[in-house]
Amino acid sequence: MESPIERLCVDRGLKMTGQRRVIARVLSDAVDHPDVEELYRRATALDGRISIATVYRTVRLLEENGILERRDFGGGRARYEPTEPGPHYHLIDVETGRVIEFEDTEHERALAAIAARLGFDLVSHRLELFGRARPANGLAAETTMRKPNKGKSA
Ligand SMILES: [Zn+2]
Repeated sequence: MESPIERLCVDRGLKMTGQRRVIARVLSDAVDHPDVEELYRRATALDGRISIATVYRTVRLLEENGILERRDFGGGRARYEPTEPGPHYHLIDVETGRVIEFEDTEHERALAAIAARLGFDLVSHRLELFGRARPANGLAAETTMRKPNKGKSA
């Protein structure tokens, strides 16, 4: 079956080889903003003939066509995610590298207001938060404490 990313490629008139289809599928399945090395690992698990150069080329092609977004979460490696389902922000756990997605319309409104004040319409913006998880406290601690009573449904 066609993956969502493959569909977008076909819609944009990109030629889809078997290897590109595999990479498109890996990208469609990813929920964790993988870098090229990680994409390569997942793609070769499905098709051992795929080279890292092919992954690089495909990722660049998809980025140029607005299908993929490149992210920079530090660590010197570009990470990728589908342009759809739309704008959101990222919080990166500096200890584990885990990426947490969130939305904040208030923040967006504030940025648009700043741009307007400077005489501009806001076209795009970037925001990455880097944080360290707080020790369990407040709500988190309460949730943890409740678990034994609630069992596996919690
Ligand atoms: Zn994301």
